[in-house]
Amino acid sequence: MLLPASVPVPQAVLDIIGTLTKSGHEAWCVGGALRDALLDQPQSDFDVATSATPDQVRRLFSRTVAVGEKYGTIGVLDRERVLHEVTTFRQDVTTDGRRAVVAFGVSLEEDLARRDFTINALAYQPITHEWRDPFSGADDLARGTLRAVGRPEARFREDYLRILRAVRFAARYALTIDPHTWTAAVESAAGLAELSAERVRDEWFKGLRTAGTVSVLAELWRDVGAAHIWLPELRSERLPEPALSALPRDPVLLSVALTTDPVAVLRRLKASNAEIGRAAAMMAAPAGPASSGVSDVRRWLSVSGGAADDLLQQHELARGTAAPWARVVNEIRERGEAVTRGQLAVTGRDLLALGLSGPAVGETLDRLLERVMEDPALNQRERLLEIVALKG
Ligand code: ATP
Ligand code: MG
Repeated sequence: MLLPASVPVPQAVLDIIGTLTKSGHEAWCVGGALRDALLDQPQSDFDVATSATPDQVRRLFSRTVAVGEKYGTIGVLDRERVLHEVTTFRQDVTTDGRRAVVAFGVSLEEDLARRDFTINALAYQPITHEWRDPFSGADDLARGTLRAVGRPEARFREDYLRILRAVRFAARYALTIDPHTWTAAVESAAGLAELSAERVRDEWFKGLRTAGTVSVLAELWRDVGAAHIWLPELRSERLPEPALSALPRDPVLLSVALTTDPVAVLRRLKASNAEIGRAAAMMAAPAGPASSGVSDVRRWLSVSGGAADDLLQQHELARGTAAPWARVVNEIRERGEAVTRGQLAVTGRDLLALGLSGPAVGETLDRLLERVMEDPALNQRERLLEIVALKG
């Protein structure tokens, strides 16, 4: 692949690189943004790699944040307080499959050599417009190949997360994983068990958000052996892709659609309580109303509560078309019809004033809600109080 003569780099990144080079340091754009630029895709963050030590970086810029100092990364804040990562050229000294001890004082070439895949091991200097592509990552990208830098067996053993990164990039850019890299990934997959749940979750979620085809990502997780260890509940059926591309890429919803026990999956991956709760609410509620008749749909909205919208999307994800009752839901909401106790025209206080007490209050509210869901015209204070009075 012909490397472009120049890549548009944000002014703030140019300023950072200018400051570093004026002080006699080397500074290059590296990583995913270059890969995306070669693919003409919207660009993620431009990471900067430099010969300056973390201390020197900190002293050169007025506003910095310690992002990952142990790994040589300093966050530099620009005028808009946007953070840019500046990482000192580094080499991994020891690795244990999960984390590395790094050393500074190495060259750009050595820094590129410790990167995971050839397509991620490019560097571009936006002032001189020089390129460094020692592993022919641009050619691999043009051929549609994902290939490890160096010996794949060794690279996966250094950091098993790279197996998940490999399938994520393959699914995102529709790349074929080079046979040697693929075999090594499959043979190293047992090591995935050593990773922390948080890193695996981040990869799973990122993969779901960015995959060109979500089913391809799921199949790669299964075929490489990652699903066996981390997602044994992964379903084998494919999801209808048109619905997937129409809906927002929500990793919780997708985990519900793709697995037989999403709550167990999200717990294992140490997802947040909010995320686990969303999945649990979806699993606890009926998937849809008994019929698309308006009172059945009101009752379904009432029992599914906060999960209703997730369940509507879920239906679309699984079936490929919007639920037939989706329109009815909208109409109920537009008319503001009551589906919760709180939307009734009377309150528990009103019932107490009528002399009710104890559990009778809640039971009566539920009974009124049931009537109102059948006939919304009843939801007026006088009429509801009348119903209560008549029942004695
Ligand atoms: P994304 O679009 O997901 O951000 P990215 O390639 O920028 O893709 P990052 O996780 O942001 O990925 O990492 C930036 C760069 O750091 C990568 O392009 C790669 O060169 C290197 N890198 C990141 N993680 C690893 C890893 N586990 N092993 C080796 N190199 C890595
Ligand atoms: Mg990135």
